[in-house]
Amino acid sequence: EVVYLNGKIIKSHEAKISVFDRGFIFGDGVYEVMVRIDQRFFYKKAHMERLQASLNKIGIAYDVDALEREIPELLASSNLSHDDCLLYIQITRGVAPRKHAYPEGIEPTVLMYALSKKLPDINAVHAKVVTTDDLRWLRCDIKMTSLLGNVMANEYAMANNCYETLLVRDGQITEGSHSNVFFVKDSRVYTHPANTLILNGITRQIVLELCGQLNIEVREEAISLKDIATMDEAFLTGTATQIASIQQINNHYFYKNEAIGTLTQKLQTAFLALKKQKELN
Ligand code: PLP
Repeated sequence: EVVYLNGKIIKSHEAKISVFDRGFIFGDGVYEVMVRIDQRFFYKKAHMERLQASLNKIGIAYDVDALEREIPELLASSNLSHDDCLLYIQITRGVAPRKHAYPEGIEPTVLMYALSKKLPDINAVHAKVVTTDDLRWLRCDIKMTSLLGNVMANEYAMANNCYETLLVRDGQITEGSHSNVFFVKDSRVYTHPANTLILNGITRQIVLELCGQLNIEVREEAISLKDIATMDEAFLTGTATQIASIQQINNHYFYKNEAIGTLTQKLQTAFLALKKQKELN
């Protein structure tokens, strides 16, 4: 197994990062995850732009364009040039004596690796989800490596034999620990607005685009926890999650069996068609 670290492709067990790396000390870094399907990355441009935006938001001066050019060699060295895979990219501020403020004149630490990963055509998970308080900070729009709030929320899902935990801030559902969430009521699709309280998922953006193409009315409005039982359908979106139907939230069942809502299914089908398109970003 190989990784790309600071300009070199090396064996993962030979890759070394300083204990004074600010990613390790402060969680001072950002990351991105994308998938490759049928020899092309799915929405690579959007992912690279979001990575650049995350870097800009936390003041790390680094240009992701140069990094993009290193990806083919990483895939070749990983023997993944022809396989579906997942690409992880992480950039931390770099190595410096421990002081909170941004140090001057240091180089970012840049890590990438690819793993073989074949996503199902359509996500067949009928997700059971729980809810908990959104304990995270107020800049959830930054895709940062400091994920303890998300980690704790996801652990809560696992402890409850659930697929995901939905986060609740001031009585309203924001997003999942590692996904965005959508609701359907009266043939309208609802999802939290893309402000600083959520990560604006690339899959979320694709689903909004598909709603436009399918003439499905969308409202970027948060849904209250207390209104969950009044919703007709709910689903999760994410790069690996794709579109996953939600079967149950806490004690509320959307379906007792593995049924899928009409609009959820329609969007899953449209999403699959998008993945099968030859020319794509
Ligand atoms: N929200 C959070 C907190 C996430 O961590 C993720 C993905 O990892 C998402 C939403 C979904 O984003 P995307 O569709 O870009 O994978």
